[in-house]
Amino acid sequence: MDIAVTRAWMQAIAAVVDERTDYLTQLDSAIGDADHGTNMRRGFAAVRDALAEFTPTTVGDVLTRTGSTLVSSVGGASGPLYGSAFRAMGKGLVEPEVDGKQLLAALTDGLAAIQRLGAAVPGDKTIVDAYVPALAAWERELSAGADLAAMATAAADAAEDGMRATTALQARKGRASYLGARSIGHQDPGATSTALIFRALADTVAGT
Ligand code: ADP
Ligand code: MG
Repeated sequence: MDIAVTRAWMQAIAAVVDERTDYLTQLDSAIGDADHGTNMRRGFAAVRDALAEFTPTTVGDVLTRTGSTLVSSVGGASGPLYGSAFRAMGKGLVEPEVDGKQLLAALTDGLAAIQRLGAAVPGDKTIVDAYVPALAAWERELSAGADLAAMATAAADAAEDGMRATTALQARKGRASYLGARSIGHQDPGATSTALIFRALADTVAGT
């Protein structure tokens, strides 16, 4: 994955978040404060603008700039969480082109940043419930000798499974946790946006 593809991934996220703003907000209106769609849209619109006037020299530059832009443009929990994740991802990718193994290491750093900041573990009904299975699937494909497109596609499939599985969970982190057992029966908005981010990566990599 080179700088252009990384940029295309960020643009693909911005496009899908634009398209799914209402859906994400509807999910957040059931168990939160109905702003996840607008938070994500505002954040990635700012990312699109920031990247348009930026000349990165490494893949990491694109991701670091994305993370900083999210932190400064999104007020909700998801801004700092995704912002720290993209910044952490960017830190290790100091080359103009990276492979599936390097990308997995960076994605793993991203997850660590989310867990450092938010202290969520699998089963808490958060971003983590889509992210963790995505990385496990990526790892499996990597060990099997798959190419980048297959790794990213398996990760997106697993993220979507994880996303769907949040419906049955009771939230233990974030705003939805205030609802206690009433959070059960609703799909988590953050796990949903994480699945969109992995699907955008798979689609972008497959299209190149
Ligand atoms: P806010 O909760 O501030 O309104 P958003 O609506 O943008 O922010 O994001 C809500 C999503 O953030 C939740 O659906 C959940 O997936 C995620 N989230 C909240 N707290 C945490 C946490 N501590 N760790 C991981 N993800 C979290
Ligand atoms: Mg919200």
